[in-house]
Amino acid sequence: MTNFPREIDAALKHDETPPSELPEDRFHRYLVDRVHPPAWRNPKPDGKYNLVVIGAGPGGVTAACEAAALGAKVALIERDLIGGDRLNVGCVPSKAIIRTARLYAEMRDAESFGGQVPDDINIGFASVMERMRRIQARLGRAASAGRLSEAGVDVYFGEARFAGPGTVAVAGDMLRFKKALIATGARPLTPPIPGLAEAGYLTNENVFDLTECPPRLLVIGGGPLGCELAQAFCRLGAHVIIAQDDPMFLPREERDAAQILSGALARDGIEIYLNATVVAVRKEGARKIVDLMSDGGPFSVSVDEILAGIGRTPNVEGMNLEAAGIRYDTKTGIQVDDFLRTSNKRIYAAGDVCLDLKFTHAAEASARIAMRNALFLGRKRLSALTIPWCTYTDPEIAHVGLYVREARDKTIPVKTFTILMHDVDRAVTDGEEEGFVKIHVRDGTDRILGATVVAPHAGEMINGLSLAITSGIGLRALARVIHTYPTQAEAIKMAADAYARTRLTPMYKFLAKRWLSW
Ligand SMILES: Cc1cc2nc3c(=O)[nH]c(=O)nc-3n(C[C@H](O)[C@H](O)[C@H](O)COP(=O)(O)OP(=O)(O)OC[C@H]3O[C@@H](n4cnc5c(N)ncnc54)[C@H](O)[C@@H]3O)c2cc1C
Repeated sequence: MTNFPREIDAALKHDETPPSELPEDRFHRYLVDRVHPPAWRNPKPDGKYNLVVIGAGPGGVTAACEAAALGAKVALIERDLIGGDRLNVGCVPSKAIIRTARLYAEMRDAESFGGQVPDDINIGFASVMERMRRIQARLGRAASAGRLSEAGVDVYFGEARFAGPGTVAVAGDMLRFKKALIATGARPLTPPIPGLAEAGYLTNENVFDLTECPPRLLVIGGGPLGCELAQAFCRLGAHVIIAQDDPMFLPREERDAAQILSGALARDGIEIYLNATVVAVRKEGARKIVDLMSDGGPFSVSVDEILAGIGRTPNVEGMNLEAAGIRYDTKTGIQVDDFLRTSNKRIYAAGDVCLDLKFTHAAEASARIAMRNALFLGRKRLSALTIPWCTYTDPEIAHVGLYVREARDKTIPVKTFTILMHDVDRAVTDGEEEGFVKIHVRDGTDRILGATVVAPHAGEMINGLSLAITSGIGLRALARVIHTYPTQAEAIKMAADAYARTRLTPMYKFLAKRWLSW
């Protein structure tokens, strides 16, 4: 509990009141007091800004803080809560409940570790959600309006709207700028399913407000969001049904990785429908009846809640982008070049509003280069970034660089080195043998093109491989890295060793044999 706000710490220790009337609990109030203080007064604009940033998600906050640290006069505009999806309705709340869900899964599996399954595993859903809000409150401190102000950023709350190619209007003020950055993020796609809106459904914007675990939950969509939340809610006590209109989950990932995930979700008890499309929804009393169509024909399921996780759409509307001459598409977002410049050369974009890879670290990295290109005549390219990603299911599925199919499309010859986790000592001792590390190199060289890791902590393991790709470190060098024993990351070293063994030429082996016999 170090570094935790004192008043929350005190509340935790002394306030014994059970969680009630959630989500308006003390942690949520604490968070909102920081990320959108009710009594906040916008500053009065005073002259032209070097940079006006629209949207205070991870992209916008990164750009604004770094620009201010470098001495720029910066304004940051947010219409809702500072921290964006990451803090409020995305990464942070989802990872918080995933952690508790994993704990319950481990309790359930206690026997396989030589322990005893407790007679009665009581899942206090309200407490799980309270813990989630406590964590949001804690992490929200760093993104508070007060902290940003102290860092030299002028924080404005309100809806931003371009009034011309060099002016943004917000809450009755006109902000003039030399350069601007649009980092307005994305929102959930609304599934065009007859009856769904009338029956009501959840998205990431309200699922974290639940105060009770729905007994039966249908998740529409088997991408990262759908799979992560389906598994978490299942482990927290819901009967989860997942429908994916594709033949496999995580269609971007390698087939064997997606298959391992499918098996893991099924073992958790999730009812899986692949190649299944939701065609209609209707309400019958408190229940929602969902009609689906699959290879086997039509069928229906009855659930209490529906969570839609079918994708994200960029926030481009309502900003009067036309007035600033900014080209955009409502599906793919703001059009940018490799320097993240829009069709208005003074205005840049970063993060979910313009990128295909919708991740926090991608938003931050792109915002950093956009800011430097905008203010310091930088020539940093988006295409030069190596961006890994991870789906935080159990096991996690992480990837960096090229997939084999992409390398083949580019006619790059590929050789793959695969280590199965059941051959890694630490995975065996941990009872976590499912998964693999796969490293793709350019055939005939040790240059790493890409890698996929499927393991309980694949998101941690992939970072070493991203470092290797970014720094041009090949498998030959990785084979020389001494790993602590026993760790699951040794799988990376084992793959590098497998590569090193291919370098033993027949001549080398012959000479070694002669030397040894002599
Ligand atoms: C459930 C879920 C889980 C996720 N988990 C992960 C994860 O584990 N790892 C990961 O890397 N990524 C994850 N993501 C994705 C991640 O949250 C986003 O990629 C990231 O937040 C994008 O940052 P951004 O700054 O581009 O936009 P956002 O975070 O969306 O922020 C944009 C901000 O702009 C504001 N805004 C919009 N329009 C205007 C306007 N006109 N005027 C003023 N303000 C405006 C919005 O209110 C918002 O605060 C997850 C997303 C979801 C939904």
